[in-house]
Parts: sequence; C-alpha cells; structure tokens
Amino acid sequence: MKLKKNQTIVYQDIEALKATEEESSSDLNLFVENFDLILRHADHIKNTPSLFFSSFKCAFISVAFLGHHQAGIGHLLTLWENEILLGTCKLCKNTLFIFSAGGSPLSGRNSCQGICVACRKVQKTKWLSFKPIMLALTFLKSKKNKRKILRTRGQYFTWEHGLTGKPVPDKLLDKGVQPATFEELIKEIQKRECD
Ligand SMILES: [Zn+2]
Repeated sequence: MKLKKNQTIVYQDIEALKATEEESSSDLNLFVENFDLILRHADHIKNTPSLFFSSFKCAFISVAFLGHHQAGIGHLLTLWENEILLGTCKLCKNTLFIFSAGGSPLSGRNSCQGICVACRKVQKTKWLSFKPIMLALTFLKSKKNKRKILRTRGQYFTWEHGLTGKPVPDKLLDKGVQPATFEELIKEIQKRECD
C-alpha cells in the first residue's frame, strides 16, 4: 500500500482484558489447577492467536524504565521451551516455570513467581542475573498483539489561513487479535482433552 504524504501507519498495543482482583485470583487458581493441561496443549495454544495472547493478571514481565508487559500464555510456553524463565523449586528441586518477573536492570534486583512442574507449589524466587528477564522482555516486545491504523492528517495550519481542511478519522487496517479470556482458554483445552 502506497501512503500519501499526509498519511502514516500507527501501531497500537492491544492489552489483554482487564480483570478485577477477584477475577485475577480465580485466574491464578485456574492456571495452577490446569497447569498440566496447558503444557499438554502447548502446540495448540501457540498456534492459535486468540489463545496465544490470552493471559491472566499475574503473568507479566515488568522492568523499571521499560514498562509493564502482560505475558500471553503463548509467550510463556515459547520462553519455557527455550529454557528462558525456568528456575528451581525450593521444596523438591524440580523445575520452576516462572510466569511473572520484574525488577531493575540497573541494580539487578528482581523478583519472580513460578509454579513447580512436580509439586505444583507456586513460589517466589529471584535470579542472580537480570539476563533472563531482559531476554523474556525482548521476546514479548517482538511478538506483541497490535492493531494497525492508517492516520491521515486532514488539517493544516498556516499563518495566512489559520487551520484549514477537515479532520480525517483513523482507518483500521488490521484489528489485531482479540485474546480469549483465561477462562475461555481453559474451557477450550478441556474440551479438546475430551474430544
Ligand atoms: Zn516442587
């Protein structure tokens, strides 16, 4: 598509659905209860955009100066497969799958939360190095859910004529992905399990 001189393409991030405190704690419970199921259906989730970007409030990467980014379940599954965002369970020494991490790259201080693949206990931990969090952040930012908008500048100001022309409404070129709620994601993979 050829743009006119007064047109630009704008990308807007589509954030996962906002949840109330109550919904977000029930989403975390859903995640813990269905953790096996999520791992079993990893390929289906990663290959279905509405499921890929489905998320819950406690799934995020938050870095001082670089912002708070919600992590889709697809993001987390991909990171875990690449052995990024994995830790060790304090209780049984099995693998801890980290689903939220935050801190400051300057001080290196960080705190993470994850679920143990064996004993299923959710626990807080931290890394000695900030690198895994930066790798996760880079991946999240490279695969963001965005809507694409054509913006046309219809009005111009000149000293001679003042403001001329008419504003042109934005045109939606790509509406991005509407993420499934976390509850919808669980229902869908539960259904696949029965099929
Ligand atoms: Zn454990």
